[in-house]
Parts: sequence; C-alpha cells; structure tokens
Amino acid sequence: MKHLSDYFPGLKGTAGDTEVYVLAGKEAGGTALVLGGTHPNEPAGFLAAVLLIENAVPSRGRLLVIPRANNSGFTHTDPQEGTPQKFTIKTPSGERWFRFGSRATNPVDQWPDPDIYIHAASGQRLSGSEVRNLNRAYPGRPDGNLTEKVAYGIVQLIKVEKVDLTIDLHEASPEYPVIHATVAHDRAMPMAAEVTMNLQVEGIEMGLEPSPVNFHGLSHRELGDYTDTLAILMESANPSQGRLRGRTDEALVVKGQDKEYVQAAKLGRLFVPFDEKGHPLEERVGRHTTAVAAYLEALGRYKPGADMAVEGIPKLPELMAEGVGAFLKPVR
Ligand SMILES: [Zn+2]
Repeated sequence: MKHLSDYFPGLKGTAGDTEVYVLAGKEAGGTALVLGGTHPNEPAGFLAAVLLIENAVPSRGRLLVIPRANNSGFTHTDPQEGTPQKFTIKTPSGERWFRFGSRATNPVDQWPDPDIYIHAASGQRLSGSEVRNLNRAYPGRPDGNLTEKVAYGIVQLIKVEKVDLTIDLHEASPEYPVIHATVAHDRAMPMAAEVTMNLQVEGIEMGLEPSPVNFHGLSHRELGDYTDTLAILMESANPSQGRLRGRTDEALVVKGQDKEYVQAAKLGRLFVPFDEKGHPLEERVGRHTTAVAAYLEALGRYKPGADMAVEGIPKLPELMAEGVGAFLKPVR
C-alpha cells in the first residue's frame, strides 16, 4: 500500500492524503487505476473499490485502487440532506460498517468557498461550492486548494505509474439523465464501445456517452487530456442521492428501495427502471465490478503490451446471489 502523498508530497499530513492499494501480478502487463469515493455520497463506487482490493488477484499487469479518492469528503455529510453517517453490511464474519460521506471536500479542510469557482486550467466558471468537488478539479495544481492538490496528486500518480486505463466509479440519482451510463474520453471511446456492447449482451443496461469537450475539471476529460491514460467514468443508480427520495436512512443506502421512487417511475420522471425491488447496493456494486473486469480484460486489445489478467473479481450474478458481504474479508 502506498499513499497519494508518495506521488505529491504536498498532501502529506493533510486530509487529502489517501491510501493507494497496489495489486501487482507476477507477469508484466498493463496498469489500471480504479478510483472509488470521488464522491463519498455515492457508496457503490467506494464499495466496488473495496471489493476489488479484497478480492482481485492479478497474474499479469498491475491494478491500483484508491477507494477514498476524496478522503476529506468521507469526514462529513452534505448539510440538510439527512443522510446517514455510515452504513452496515452483514458479512459471514460479522458486521462491517462504512462511511457515507459528502459529495465535496469538508469545509473544515477547505474554506471559504468563493462566489464563483473558476477552474484554473480552463477559466470555466461554476457555482462556488463546486470548488470542493474533486470531479471538477482536474488536472489540479500543486499550489491550489486542497481539492486541487488531490487532483494534482492523482495526475502525478497516473504519470509516474504510467497508468494505461483509469476508471472513476460514481453513482447518480435516479432522476439524473446520465445514469446506468459510461462516459468515455475520446481516446477511450473504441474500448468503451466494445465493453458497453458486451455488458449489454450480458443483460446489463448501460449507455455510452462521449466526454463533453468543453466541460472541464472532470476525470474523463482532463485525465485523458493531460495524461496518456484511457479515461472512463461509470454511473450506477443511487436512490439515497436524489431529490425525489423519501425517508433517508441506512436501509435506503443498502437496500435501495423507496416507494416515492416507485411512484416517480410510474409518472415517467426517472431515467432508470424503478420497482419495489429498488436498486440494492449489491446490484450497483456488481455493475461496477463486472464492468471493471470487462475493461481490464479488453485493455490489451487497445493498448499494445498492456494486457492484464485478473482473477477473483466478484461480478453481478455472484453479488446478486450472495450479497456484497460474502465478498468482504474479516477485519483483523
Ligand atoms: Zn459522482
């Protein structure tokens, strides 16, 4: 295990420093980076990263995983959202709990927000609170605010480790149009098209969108533009994040069932199907892990010499049958 501060020492001792897990195969091959927890209020991305760390066994190539990309965002929740501070998963060895955090860096670590956030590299203007959004901060800068420093650290890691493929795992609310979707940088588009079609054949509903050229600060745009990595972002459906949700508690985070969303789906207000079964965490995590496995398998066809062979990644059918907890290791 490394830390982001190993790649950018300016993060050492700050709330922006975060763990980087290195899973290395015996044979040389490609290098892939998975980012979980860019938005700590999107638990499937974070938990999919944890499952990769605890289950994936590369024999060829290297898999780098940052489960808490915005570490500071895990230390608070969004004001007035009423979200739980943690959620609990049952495992064969007992319960394990995980932080449910905020979309943004904790104001304790970065304050105050400006009235208007001007993205340094492009001059793009966004509302002030977006200054604490890691996925508006790329490529970052070493002398910027904490969020920009984290983004800069991730860019340095990608350059130093020669990361061939970067996958940023997210969730979106069921009423958000970009959902059950992949967003790919221009150079990653041929690979994303193949993987998306294969996922659809496996019965996983998945859309594919090109990374907008003029929307700046996002991982799928700037990591692709500022480094040689192939940049991909994926979204699953998170009922604990949206505006139309009802009671917000641990059960909503884990089971993903909400009668308000069932009603909203009947009224045609959602961009994903939504019935009484909802969108449980095992489904959302399983979509992410299945897609990550498919990208790792495909990488060598799109980058010469970047073949990867990785065993042990639990996929959607196993997760639906056994639950997330079955693939979480005992805490020592
Ligand atoms: Zn997100």
